[in-house]
Amino acid sequence: MSTAKAISPDSDRPWGDPGAWPAAPGVHRIPLPLPNDGLLAVNVYAIETPDADRGTALTLVDGGWAIAEAQEVLEKALSSIGAGFGDIRRFLVTHVHRDHYTQAVALRRLNGAEVVLGRREEPSLALVRGSEQEVRTRMGGALADAGAVEIAELWKRAPDDASTPNDLWELPDTWLEGDQPLTVGARTLDAVHTPGHTQGHYVFADRADGLLFAGDHVLPTITPSIGFEPDTRLQPLADFLASLAKVRAMPDLSLLPAHGPVHGSSHGRVEALLAHHDTRLELSLRALEPQADGGAGMSAYDVAGELPWTRRERTLASLDPFNTALASLETRAHLEVLVARGQAVVRRGDGAPGRYWRA
Ligand SMILES: [Zn+2]
Repeated sequence: MSTAKAISPDSDRPWGDPGAWPAAPGVHRIPLPLPNDGLLAVNVYAIETPDADRGTALTLVDGGWAIAEAQEVLEKALSSIGAGFGDIRRFLVTHVHRDHYTQAVALRRLNGAEVVLGRREEPSLALVRGSEQEVRTRMGGALADAGAVEIAELWKRAPDDASTPNDLWELPDTWLEGDQPLTVGARTLDAVHTPGHTQGHYVFADRADGLLFAGDHVLPTITPSIGFEPDTRLQPLADFLASLAKVRAMPDLSLLPAHGPVHGSSHGRVEALLAHHDTRLELSLRALEPQADGGAGMSAYDVAGELPWTRRERTLASLDPFNTALASLETRAHLEVLVARGQAVVRRGDGAPGRYWRA
């Protein structure tokens, strides 16, 4: 079944349908629109907390994308549970991507809520607060290293992104460091650092009620992109795999994801994601020529061209430029894990793309 039509058990409807759906007692899942985005919508979760002045206040996990349409849908959903923007005391933002972070900043200007974000998002946030050209140059550099030379040029020359005003990339009020318990009303949420999707990604676990607010770290119907962030790194997948193991070592919890329906078992999805990456690592290794053959080696883009993409097993050439970029960077991340494991070797130099061989 396609992600868009997947039915969520809390609403008995396609998961992106607007509303405030009862994900758990005292927890409402509120899907907010992401127009022109394959992800369709982003779930924010409103957690009720006792409040001396108002009786009940709210902590939100994620804020959504700061666009007028999303703000309207959120306002309507909150009013259906007898609440409004003034009731939001705090935003726990799983990561710095615009569909999670920017509306938290926009609403903070209205209601003075506290915005909380992982400390390791600071370098990427500093870059997007600075110049868009610098961000594009960095992404272009990573794509060029992955051998996606034409896409790298497209990226560097792309127009500024007018959809997200630059002044929405304000700093949070509070940085999360390491793993730490947070008091949210009567609950304790364990903030668990899970780098991979981005370096500063956090999940929030309510062990007493068996809930995992998973952000984009563990998604129910798709595999999250890895390391798509301005502060690009060579090894985001090693971090991601370690973060999956970290969540697998926690109790099995109900998965409350940022994109897609709620799902019964965090362990079930973590195992599926680990198996997916095992398969991709194996396919990437098989695509490489042995170093002993003395050939020219392959770039990450060359290897990506040998692999099937999406559930429909499409070729790289049939993907649009944005998804070709994601595929090239993801393949580079797989190849770098093979290098770190001693199964592949890489050579870089003179600004040429990294070239890989089977060890
Ligand atoms: Zn997201």
